[in-house]
Amino acid sequence: MSTTQPQRKELLDEINDREPYVTQFEDNIICPYCGYEVRDSWELGGGGEHDDSMICDACAREFEWSRILTAQYSTRRIGGDGK
Ligand SMILES: [Zn+2]
Repeated sequence: MSTTQPQRKELLDEINDREPYVTQFEDNIICPYCGYEVRDSWELGGGGEHDDSMICDACAREFEWSRILTAQYSTRRIGGDGK
C-alpha cells in the first residue's frame, strides 16, 4: 500500500476521533491535519521542553505542539582503578 497524502489524512482523521493526541513520539512536529513534517523542529521554541501553537506550512491550519525531552546518562572512569 502506498502512503499518498489523502490516505495519510484519512488515517490522521481516524486517530483524531479516538486519541487525545494525533501524533506522538515523532522526531519532528507532524501536522495533525495533513501529516506535513516540520523539518528542524528543534529550532522552534528555544530548544527545551516547550508547548506552543503554529500554523502548518502545507495546509495553513493551526495546531498545538509539545516537545517532551527525556534525559539519558553515561559514565566512565577517570582514574585507572579497577581495570
Ligand atoms: Zn497541515
